[in-house]
Amino acid sequence: MKKNSLGKTGIKVSELCFGALPLGPLQANIALEEGAKLVRTALERGINFIDTAETYKTYPYIKKALEGYNNKKEVIIATKSNAQTYLEMEKSIKEALQALDRDYLDIFHLHAARVTSSVFEEREGAWQGLKDYRAKGLIRAIGISTHVVEVVRRAAEIKDIDIVFPLINKLGMGIVGGTVEDMVKAITEAAKAGKGLYAMKALAGGHLIDQLKESLNFVRNIAGINSVAVGMVKPEELALNLKIFNNEEIPPELSTKKIKSSKRLVILSFCKGCGTCVKTCPNQALSLEKGKAVVDQKLCLRCGYCNPVCPEFAIRLV
Ligand code: SF4
Ligand code: SF4
Repeated sequence: MKKNSLGKTGIKVSELCFGALPLGPLQANIALEEGAKLVRTALERGINFIDTAETYKTYPYIKKALEGYNNKKEVIIATKSNAQTYLEMEKSIKEALQALDRDYLDIFHLHAARVTSSVFEEREGAWQGLKDYRAKGLIRAIGISTHVVEVVRRAAEIKDIDIVFPLINKLGMGIVGGTVEDMVKAITEAAKAGKGLYAMKALAGGHLIDQLKESLNFVRNIAGINSVAVGMVKPEELALNLKIFNNEEIPPELSTKKIKSSKRLVILSFCKGCGTCVKTCPNQALSLEKGKAVVDQKLCLRCGYCNPVCPEFAIRLV
């Protein structure tokens, strides 16, 4: 597996990053042993980069995958927090260190999705927390995850940012405040400014599943992208993604049709219309109609963020 340096951080990551989100309760919620085994297999096959977040609740899978693993120190884990204040960020950092059983964290982001470019002022305390913990040597690199073109542009100008984790896919699905071309340009400019960049949502939450190889290669070929985070829950998905990122021929048994199941979000009839999910959705895919939540499947990125906020347990990814 090809490895790239993330900007000026000195951190070298595999071009394929294991996206941990789908393992956990926001999506597939697979058994701990099974998920940990998949992560461990990915590490043994040349992936050394895992992306997670506090809200994904996937730290236990990663911790278990690393138990007894000889090359533990070479595994790069990126995580993120929605913390708004210094104290909240401090809590998130300590929780990650403990839950992942690490002496230090490799990459820690402000988990920011759809916020505006004022995020660094609005969450000044949280941002300061990241800078201080990097100065203490407990975090190697800090950055931001975002769906917003303007935030990528702003991040390029901020000296303290080491890494940017932007949303990009060939459809432009989920990009806020610009087109595919605008985001590609912002990514390339950020890379020129010395930032390390890895990409999310290359498959637009499953909308590009039928064009898997082309869609992943589109993002891999963007100047400035060092790695691509891809969510995986099955050994066959891992095998297929490894073939693509190792530029190997894909055998017929690994064809997308055979191993990929396209998921969709469903709102069950007992929705009470409280609107909490509508406020949570990062892509404005939910709205209220006649006292019930409805989903626009064309906008839904199947991130699963709306699932845990429903007090009625009325949201399912099926
Ligand atoms: S409706 Fe919104 S929050 Fe829910 S899965 Fe789709 S994009 Fe994510
Ligand atoms: S959070 Fe649940 S109950 Fe509230 S509107 Fe959304 S689906 Fe309905």
